[in-house]
Amino acid sequence: MLQINGIKLKIDEDESKLKEKIEKKLHTRVKSFEIRRKSLDARKEPVYVYSVLVETDHEEKYLGKDIVRYDPVDLKAEYRPRNQVCIIAGYGPSGIFAAYRLIEAGYRVIVFEKGKRILERQKDVERFFREGILDENSNVQFGEGGAGTFSDAKLTTRIKDPYIDYILDVFVQHGADPKIRYEPHAHIGTDEIRKIIERITDRLMEKGCEFHFSEPVKDLILDESRRVTGIVTDQGEYRCDHFLSGIGHSAYETIRMFCDRGIYIEKKDIALGFRVEHPQSLIDARQTGSRVKEANEYFLRYKGEKGVYSFCMCPGGIVIPAMSEKRTIVTNGMSYAARDSGNANSAILIQIRKEEFEDGYAYLHEIERMAYDHSGSFKALSQNVADFMNGRLEPLIRESTYPLGTVLYDFNRFFQEEDLRIVKDALKDFDRKIPGFIQEGIMIGPETRSSCPVRIKRNEAFESVNTPGLYPMGEGAGYGGGIMSCALDGIRIANAILWKYEQISGN
Ligand SMILES: Cc1cc2nc3c(=O)[nH]c(=O)nc-3n(C[C@H](O)[C@H](O)[C@H](O)COP(=O)(O)OP(=O)(O)OC[C@H]3O[C@@H](n4cnc5c(N)ncnc54)[C@H](O)[C@@H]3O)c2cc1C
Repeated sequence: MLQINGIKLKIDEDESKLKEKIEKKLHTRVKSFEIRRKSLDARKEPVYVYSVLVETDHEEKYLGKDIVRYDPVDLKAEYRPRNQVCIIAGYGPSGIFAAYRLIEAGYRVIVFEKGKRILERQKDVERFFREGILDENSNVQFGEGGAGTFSDAKLTTRIKDPYIDYILDVFVQHGADPKIRYEPHAHIGTDEIRKIIERITDRLMEKGCEFHFSEPVKDLILDESRRVTGIVTDQGEYRCDHFLSGIGHSAYETIRMFCDRGIYIEKKDIALGFRVEHPQSLIDARQTGSRVKEANEYFLRYKGEKGVYSFCMCPGGIVIPAMSEKRTIVTNGMSYAARDSGNANSAILIQIRKEEFEDGYAYLHEIERMAYDHSGSFKALSQNVADFMNGRLEPLIRESTYPLGTVLYDFNRFFQEEDLRIVKDALKDFDRKIPGFIQEGIMIGPETRSSCPVRIKRNEAFESVNTPGLYPMGEGAGYGGGIMSCALDGIRIANAILWKYEQISGN
């Protein structure tokens, strides 16, 4: 098979033209081809640039600049009954992909998930968005699929790893559009990712994976050498050879239990801010010249004394309440596959260094509670960006998409003095890059859960440094942020267990 790089199509040209272009480049007919990568080159007249995989006769004679041999690598784990039990806490991207890989390899896998299955969870989330009744165990953060289930399900990552294709293949095998394998800013949308995750769960069940929904892990069983030999839930005790913890960044109670059990945990930097919302047309106007038809994204970064950046941008999306505890407010964003709300939103975050707080969870909690106390309900805090810049507090220029309503709040009180200046400088910079960013923008917040304030430190074998048998993974362990990086971390953990087994059994 050949990989041909650098095949170009104009923005409005149909992908069916690719075959013609490939054959023209090779001066021969091709048997089959598939797209491997696609990127937008907007340096001059914008074009899409493709890498394609091609099958044809006498391939060696075409090798050269832009045309290389492609040997597909089969990353599937070899199946063999392994006679070992792996318990996984948390069924977000890290838990899902760890379970997938371990089942593929022949382990006995038992998953414990604090929240409910998606259909029930969806009802709880919809009721919360409609009536403001929050279920602390079943919400945007907790339940089958984890935190990314009510999201834009953007699959962007800068990580280069062969298992990225493995993850995308699993999504495609369970119903995702095959285009996610190569689209430059692929996203699935909340409506689609829910169906895909349900199918993955059903498939894992068929293959013997045992699931315990609405049954959080409450404690660990440690032997005299501090090795984890089992876990405790409200239903009983369960023994295991390996315990994988993929509990996400909102599992305060479980982290507290880990601390009580003496597991080595360290502080890490966090980020804090608000969501900014604009008409999608303002963001698209920047791209008019490129004639790109989809709702456009942006990624903004300001390098001051501290970094300020846009995060988790949701084109054509809505701002959502993402809290998992009563008497707190946390914002985030999500989009449906069609990305057609007419509004664009993104978090704008400033870095908070670990030296600036004692306990990151307590620090963020205080802000989430302050927001609730100011609002008196789940209505989010809000202000026009222009008013924030000028220290005024006027009614919003436009209603937010946040479903539970908003109350006015002066975000000048939100940041430390030095951070306030940096955030304002950043917004001026963003306004130069996207004219109207200040005048047309409204702020909704607070946004506090973009990253986890702790890292459960692990060794080179991916186990906790002081508690063997415990494999911390994903965002809640401080080793990932986003669907793809956490899914990949789950696979890394499964591979580490697999590798250890091969060594012990001498295979
Ligand atoms: C609203 C929203 C939108 C997002 N949008 C995107 C996006 O578009 N693209 C992207 O890449 N990322 C997005 N993210 C971030 C992404 O979802 C997370 O980075 C990712 O889900 C983290 O994966 P994880 O497996 O580490 O943990 P999580 O997905 O957080 O899953 C952890 C799971 O553990 C469970 N749990 C907690 N405690 C216990 C316990 N004691 N026992 C058993 N189970 C427990 C929880 O119920 C939860 O289901 C979004 C996040 C949110 C909240």
